[in-house]
Amino acid sequence: MDLGLQGKWALVCAASKGLGKGCAEALVREGANVVITARGAEALEATAAELRALAAGRCEVRAVAGDITTPEGRAAALAACPQVDILVNNAGGPPPGDFRDWDRDAWIRALDANMLTPIELIKATVDGMIARRFGRIVNITSGAVKAPIDILGLSNGARSGLTGFVAGLARKTVEHNVTINNLLPGAFDTDRLKVTFEGSARASGKTIDELREARMKTIPARRFGTPAEFGAACAWLCSAQAGYITGQNWLIDGGAYPGTF
Ligand code: NAD
Repeated sequence: MDLGLQGKWALVCAASKGLGKGCAEALVREGANVVITARGAEALEATAAELRALAAGRCEVRAVAGDITTPEGRAAALAACPQVDILVNNAGGPPPGDFRDWDRDAWIRALDANMLTPIELIKATVDGMIARRFGRIVNITSGAVKAPIDILGLSNGARSGLTGFVAGLARKTVEHNVTINNLLPGAFDTDRLKVTFEGSARASGKTIDELREARMKTIPARRFGTPAEFGAACAWLCSAQAGYITGQNWLIDGGAYPGTF
């Protein structure tokens, strides 16, 4: 299926690794020009080189190092993208912990990264999308929005705030062929998951392999997802064909969420 993305410009945030990188790869495969961001310039440049090889001259890949959760980081990312037809919102997730230990600053950091940054980027780009009558906004959130994870209270809270905001706006933009949807990852084999297992291994005395095996057994697919699978779902949501889908929260979790709806 041709997704109709050739020549579109996509801003994919936090994309040197993991799920963001998976999304950027899938968009490049479809011939979209991409601007990728991440804080660390070295990993970002390495990913940009991989994407340019994949693009093989069919589309452009630009890399902008910076923290997307800051006004300067967002301004630099936006300045590098001639027009934003596709916006993939992503940033690192907040740390785990007990809510009794989180002060106002901890909450503000989580809200900045996982709620207010996507909203700021939507604000900066959505009117241009409406004027051009094409826009696809995908927010990478978390399965924790549907089924909260107790130690990830900062994530549960901040991402639910974004989800509530998007639910309203997504119904205002769709008449202009601008959709806004959220992708909710379950467990994906990325650095983020690795760091989580390292923390649990230290706390429990179990090995990382034991913890990985135990976690996989809780997932009906009996495995973790791959960034390529995640990216393919993202590219499809960004496709020309997906203009009638908006305000949705799409779980990609190998069946881990146990509810009927
Ligand atoms: P990852 O650690 O593998 O990759 C994160 C990427 O984001 C890296 O490229 C990093 O450089 C970049 N990044 C982080 N903070 C940034 C910032 N402030 N500005 C710019 N770039 C930044 O993580 P991942 O597994 O790909 O996760 C992506 C998002 O999905 C995170 O918010 C994570 O909490 C969430 N999530 C992941 C899983 C999972 O299983 N991997 C599950 C649920 C939710």
